[in-house]
Amino acid sequence: MSCKVVLAQGISASYREELKNTIKSRNIRPKLVGFLANEDPAAVKYAEWTAKTCAETGVEFELRKCARNDLEDKIIEANQDAGVNGIMVYYPVFGDRQDQYLQNVVDVSKDVEGLHHKYVYNMYHNIRFLDEAKTKKCIIPCTPLGLVKVMEYVGVYNGILPYGNRLHGRVITIINRSEIVGRPLAALLANDGAKVYSVDINGIQEFHRGVGLQLKKHEVSETTLKVEDVLPLSDVVITGVPSPTYKVPSHLIRDGAVCINFSTFKNFNGDEIKKKAAIYVPAVGKVTVAMLERNLVRLYDYQLQDRAA
Ligand code: NAD
Repeated sequence: MSCKVVLAQGISASYREELKNTIKSRNIRPKLVGFLANEDPAAVKYAEWTAKTCAETGVEFELRKCARNDLEDKIIEANQDAGVNGIMVYYPVFGDRQDQYLQNVVDVSKDVEGLHHKYVYNMYHNIRFLDEAKTKKCIIPCTPLGLVKVMEYVGVYNGILPYGNRLHGRVITIINRSEIVGRPLAALLANDGAKVYSVDINGIQEFHRGVGLQLKKHEVSETTLKVEDVLPLSDVVITGVPSPTYKVPSHLIRDGAVCINFSTFKNFNGDEIKKKAAIYVPAVGKVTVAMLERNLVRLYDYQLQDRAA
């Protein structure tokens, strides 16, 4: 077996080191507040990782637990507190459109997860800066951003190509089209030049910028393709199906593909995938947390900039 298994710990190491050095050399202590208003074991685990990584890098992290019906008021309180630089919420809370509402209650200047409508809109429209002078980069949702960093690390991005086109020629399948991860990820990768097959329980959509990347931002088209059609074509397969029984059919994976799982559950059969894939990334959670902190430092600087203006 020649498959290289790449762990999130290793991928995130350089980001954690950079954060640690920045925070130490500038003698700053950005504060992140995390709201936990559910008992979801994945959310609890994510909160534990956040606390651990923050302690390591020098970020002040405070976990605030509350009843879900109090969450909106608690977020508003943190929005108004100048001592809080970043806010995140462990979703799902209500598991419906109320969660989307709560994402927009978090002040845009403190939204480390990049889930506010302004960031999401800018991402879908390939608008990369918040200001005309291009001094403030947009915050990108941290799990999709973490997955981009995973792909940069394992060499899916081609550094010879210009920034913004570095996935030109890559075919990528993403099995998950949630609003939090799968759909924004498909848009980001297509904006960077990939042809993306976005799979959900109901079907497959194609995200792309056209032949020769003639479009400035991605467009989406419906397809009648099936998983068995797109997997054999894909250089990269990314999966995030929230089920312990779901497995990506290994026999359909292209020999030498890059396979990445972001689900809490193991969507690939580890033994089988190692016989096929060139690179296998079994989990990405630690990279997500590193991106969360990176977004926090960015927002901390924008807040300084705004206060000085
Ligand atoms: P979700 O329930 O909102 O979305 C699940 C998606 O998977 C949907 O698009 C659904 O249509 C699709 N799906 C489900 N079954 C499918 C099937 N059999 N075939 C094809 N598509 C199918 O979930 P989510 O919020 O996107 O989270 C998904 C998983 O990712 C969870 O396990 C979650 O814990 C994990 N997650 C990980 C990170 C991280 O940083 N590692 C971050 C966020 C979420």
